[in-house]
Amino acid sequence: MTLIIAIDGPAASGKGTLARRLAAALDLPYLDTGLLYRAVGRRLLEQGGDPADAEKAAWAARAVQPDDIQRPGLRSPEIDAAASRVAAVPAVRAALLDFQREFGNRRGAVLDGRDIGTVVFPGAAVKLFVTASLAERARRRWLELRSRGVDADLDQVAADLRARDAQDETRAAAPLRPASDAILLDTTRLDPEAAFAEAMKAVTVMGKE
Ligand code: C5P
Repeated sequence: MTLIIAIDGPAASGKGTLARRLAAALDLPYLDTGLLYRAVGRRLLEQGGDPADAEKAAWAARAVQPDDIQRPGLRSPEIDAAASRVAAVPAVRAALLDFQREFGNRRGAVLDGRDIGTVVFPGAAVKLFVTASLAERARRRWLELRSRGVDADLDQVAADLRARDAQDETRAAAPLRPASDAILLDTTRLDPEAAFAEAMKAVTVMGKE
């Protein structure tokens, strides 16, 4: 049987770092599913399309290729916002579902995103919902932007995160919320090492059930 580890949560909660570490420790493939939505957002922006145009967004999602998520430059604030807009379109989500399921079913995987435990793999053996306070998430994202040479304003970073949380939590299609059987992991006061240790405990407990 293949092991699926579903990790959901809001932006900059630490879920990506954690997912990558779990995948390495357990020798599982890793998929950052946010990159799929980012690739769709970028395709639209490059073609001068409006991310709120559902028909064009669905067309862009059906055209996404595995190579698109390897391209650099998917993490700009402009693409953050476009990804969140296209992610609210049901046809976009439907078009990306097979790719995610096939990836996981090949030989198991760690996948992170917003709806992995609720929609993509509701039967995943291990489900974690990773959160942190808005202030801490903004601080982390701001530091990350600075380390990439981007001179961002902390208040603006917090406002962008809040807007994206609201968009992701209130959309009708696969809104961001914990699966009823997910273990909640608040990383506000945890460093990556401590978060990893907590997650490994959950994997040990849930993976055996
Ligand atoms: O995780 P990341 O911040 O890269 O995701 C970008 C956007 O893609 C999110 O704000 C969310 O709207 C969307 N997303 C989603 N479902 C996923 C992964 C990402 O709706 N499984």
